[in-house]
Amino acid sequence: MTVRNRADWQAFSEQLTIRGQAWINGEYTDAVSGETFDCISPIDGKKIATIASCDEADVNCAVSVARSVFESGVWAGMAPKNRKQILQAFAAKIDEHRGELALLETLDMGKPISESLSDDIPGSANCIRWCAEAIDKVYDEVAPVGQGSLALVTREAIGVVAAIVPWNFPLSMASWKLGPALATGNSVILKPSEKSPLTAIRMAELAEEAGLPKGVLQVLPGFGHTAGKALALHPEVDCLAFTGSTHVAKQLMIYAGESNMKRVWLEAGGKSPNIIFADAPDLDKAASYAAMAIGYNQGEVCTAGSRLLVEESIHDEFIMLLKKHMETWQPGHPLDPETTSGAIVDDIQTRNVLGFIESGKHEGAQLIMGGERVMAETGGYYIEPTIFDGVNNKMTIAQQEIFGPVLSVITFKDEDEAVQIANDTVYGLAAALWTDNLSRAHRVSRRLRAGSVFINNYHGGDMTMPFGGLKQSGNGRDKSLHAFEKYTELKSTWIALD
Ligand code: NAD
Repeated sequence: MTVRNRADWQAFSEQLTIRGQAWINGEYTDAVSGETFDCISPIDGKKIATIASCDEADVNCAVSVARSVFESGVWAGMAPKNRKQILQAFAAKIDEHRGELALLETLDMGKPISESLSDDIPGSANCIRWCAEAIDKVYDEVAPVGQGSLALVTREAIGVVAAIVPWNFPLSMASWKLGPALATGNSVILKPSEKSPLTAIRMAELAEEAGLPKGVLQVLPGFGHTAGKALALHPEVDCLAFTGSTHVAKQLMIYAGESNMKRVWLEAGGKSPNIIFADAPDLDKAASYAAMAIGYNQGEVCTAGSRLLVEESIHDEFIMLLKKHMETWQPGHPLDPETTSGAIVDDIQTRNVLGFIESGKHEGAQLIMGGERVMAETGGYYIEPTIFDGVNNKMTIAQQEIFGPVLSVITFKDEDEAVQIANDTVYGLAAALWTDNLSRAHRVSRRLRAGSVFINNYHGGDMTMPFGGLKQSGNGRDKSLHAFEKYTELKSTWIALD
């Protein structure tokens, strides 16, 4: 159907058949226990689906399928050029079902439909396609060992990969794992967040329609402490690819140590500084990006520019510009194509964010904009774009990841102080700086302890650039050819020639 406005999207949603079962060995399957949980839309607080609540029994089943599929070589042993074709067809299926997937994503976790449609779904297809296209162009190595021997350095698939992902970009985060893990020949079990399982389940079915052999990709919806933990402890899972909070990331390292020392790749939290120097080339543009850096996806972004560091001499002018741009991130109905900021994922997260706002007030920061829950009459969860000024970097709102539209403004006197404040965090995911001084741009960029640095922009990047964090933001990199390193092991083969 042609979908143009909110009423069209609402009509489309009434026609949708939403599946909430697990996808195991190419079949929709109930949890072994028969347990389910409700999938609630944050748009209006209403139930939209019943979801299978998988636990250890389902994990055992899926891992046994994944292992035997891997050992059979049906996928791992397939020529890269053939895996490429199937994954390209998979990407095409995602594109073909863009409207349906975008709608599922928005209904499930509350982001604006325009974002699901223009960013999340095409971005996911692009990631799968990029990895597919790359896989038959990556060569192994011959080591320079001289005449008497031939020394090969080859990369092999790891085996069974468990991908555990969060709710803020459900399909994108899944694709960042699936693209490289499938392209390199692994069998993958995907556990979506209990808050956003819908697109993951649908995607697995599309992958099989595209020709992916049964059991290569399976999806287990369920909770972290049941399905997630069982995957992380399972002795036949070879690799955990995780995106989520730092707290759970630390837990996964323990589970790996307690079980089989599986490889653990962690994309975790952030508290990213966005530094505005007085010599920024265009203050209005910097203010508009600063608002986007905390407004986009309701601030539920690991790289959100949640700490805004402003040079003292431009503070007043910048705050005025910032407030103007923050107004454009007022929440609206997520199915309205004009909406820029949607619903917070659920009641729990809404209460978390409001709790942080209270702590900011209590610790003495000045609330200069927003701070309230709005649109409560809808039954959904919406929070105004919120700015605290006069924040000290030691305050809770400056140190902890809020994961909502709450910005902390901190002033600094000079470059050294800006770098010191920027790096004074346990996280190291992203950082940004605004200056028209080339030397300063490079100098400060080198001193910032972050996996990504944006200069005179925010959220820049694409599939060709690795993405990941330093410090307690994690390890390893998603995207780019570097992502293949996570899902392969190096083998050295020494062949005597004489
Ligand atoms: P979360 O850590 O609560 O959950 C992430 C996933 O882990 C979910 O699927 C959850 O069910 C599962 N899980 C929870 N407890 C578990 C356990 N004990 N064992 C195994 N699995 C368990 O995170 P969230 O609230 O879903 O997502 C928000 C977090 O994700 C934020 O901290 C954000 O910064 C982070 N994030 C990071 C990136 C990145 O690339 N660095 C990207 C997006 C989100």
